[in-house]
Amino acid sequence: MPAIAPQNFDVLIVGAGPVGLFLANECARRGLRWRIVEARSTQSEHSKALAIFPRTLEIFDMAGVVSPFVERANRVEWATVISHKRTLARIHFTPEDTPYSFIAMVPQDVTETLLLEELRRKGSAVEYDTTFVSAVQNSASVTATLDHHGNRREVTAAYLVGCDGAHSAVRHLLNLPFEGAEYHASFMLADVETNETLPADEMQLCPHELGPLAIFPMSATRRRVVATVDGVRDEAPSLDFVRQLISERAPSDIEARALHWSSYFRIHHRQVAKLRVGRMFVAGDAAHIHSPFGGQGMNTGLQDVWNLVWKLDFAVRGRGGENLLDSYTAERRPVIRHVIDVTDFMTRAMGTPSKLAQAARNTIIPVVSRLAPFQQGFVRTLSELGVAYRGSPIVEGAGRRYFDSSLRGGKGICSRFLLLGEESILASAAVTQLCAAYPGLVEPRSAQCEGLLLVRPDGYVACEPGRNKAAAVEAIRSLLHRQSLEPLTS
Ligand SMILES: Cc1cc2nc3c(=O)[nH]c(=O)nc-3n(C[C@H](O)[C@H](O)[C@H](O)COP(=O)(O)OP(=O)(O)OC[C@H]3O[C@@H](n4cnc5c(N)ncnc54)[C@H](O)[C@@H]3O)c2cc1C
Repeated sequence: MPAIAPQNFDVLIVGAGPVGLFLANECARRGLRWRIVEARSTQSEHSKALAIFPRTLEIFDMAGVVSPFVERANRVEWATVISHKRTLARIHFTPEDTPYSFIAMVPQDVTETLLLEELRRKGSAVEYDTTFVSAVQNSASVTATLDHHGNRREVTAAYLVGCDGAHSAVRHLLNLPFEGAEYHASFMLADVETNETLPADEMQLCPHELGPLAIFPMSATRRRVVATVDGVRDEAPSLDFVRQLISERAPSDIEARALHWSSYFRIHHRQVAKLRVGRMFVAGDAAHIHSPFGGQGMNTGLQDVWNLVWKLDFAVRGRGGENLLDSYTAERRPVIRHVIDVTDFMTRAMGTPSKLAQAARNTIIPVVSRLAPFQQGFVRTLSELGVAYRGSPIVEGAGRRYFDSSLRGGKGICSRFLLLGEESILASAAVTQLCAAYPGLVEPRSAQCEGLLLVRPDGYVACEPGRNKAAAVEAIRSLLHRQSLEPLTS
């Protein structure tokens, strides 16, 4: 175990869960000076978060880490709603405008192992047995106190990101209230070996008056069962108890044959009002927690740090100011709010004890779920392909996602804005001058699109200024200036 040496770093990452590990990978890809500390001695062996949604897979692709996830994943393409053995809805989960038109089921311990292996390939490592204790910050840096086997050391970094989970010490230090509430019901999670009755590419959501139950296929014969239950017992749920829940609430012919892992847990829906205080940030479960129905928790956390890392990268290089760093809260908070609202609605609607509400639900779902707009909305929301940053102070327009094959593989997009357009527009004097004014920051790239398109380093459209070339160049210039990038001379 390397001794903790007092050194200067660009980014200190606290916590090596999936969110911290992904941030570390991204810092390494960008050539930042960083370190990641983790209180535990090793990675967790629990399979907790399972679903990786299409937008996260696109992001992993842009980050150059997607291949092992696609290889290991059980692919799910159907979501079925079944109540009292009656199929209320069957929705094809295959979004069309992405190479990842499926949900990748990868247990969280595998996700962490794959991200750790990627980090090792980049020549880096996690510092285990190292606990973040406290920090002080000034206008130039953050100095953190770390504890390694009882020895305390100070580490100074330009920025610190707390990816330290639901009980975040960083969040507590920053005095950020974790606004929200606890669910009345407890949750039960079990990974079980089953017969092959249910298709491996289909997940089942089972609304029930005793509480909702969901079944996620990890392979042809392994299933994740999640359900709400009354009260948490001391011991983990037994196979018999899981069988009882399945027989009460799930499709008739599924048989649980063996138990791999099970746990009771309580869930809150909470978020912080701001994700940044000066040079310190929170991300992932440190910033938001919600119901596991919908499987959005880890995905949302991974997308937090994807949104943050290019801004830190620019700030470290002196090319991003307060506006850019503040936009992390401005952009992610509405996304997090939406995730909490959607998962909360799903949890309550699937478990309502009201006979009237159950009858309405069981009548409405079969009708509505057949409508194409509902299906498209459901898939766009769950896949997170619909996430956009309209209204952000650093975006002009809808802030929609952009993805094409040139962005893939880890080298397609990193520390620059892409200025997309047809060759003839890119070759014009106005565009050439614009790119020259931001050397190494704006890369012209030929693409089939109307007029010019400015794409951020995270694959969201910063500006879509229309066909008038002079006006478009001016709009892009003004946007880059607003983000406190280097001022223009022409
Ligand atoms: C039982 C269970 C089941 C779940 N099921 C699902 C699911 O089905 N779907 C889903 O999407 N999500 C699920 N989740 C949630 C999911 O696991 C989290 O959203 C995800 O782990 C968040 O990742 P993270 O990196 O933000 O935080 P974490 O995974 O919590 O990682 C935080 C890390 O920080 C470390 N740490 C904490 N304090 C310090 C400190 N002071 N110094 C140094 N290190 C520190 C911790 O040891 C930990 O390794 C489940 C969670 C639990 C507990």
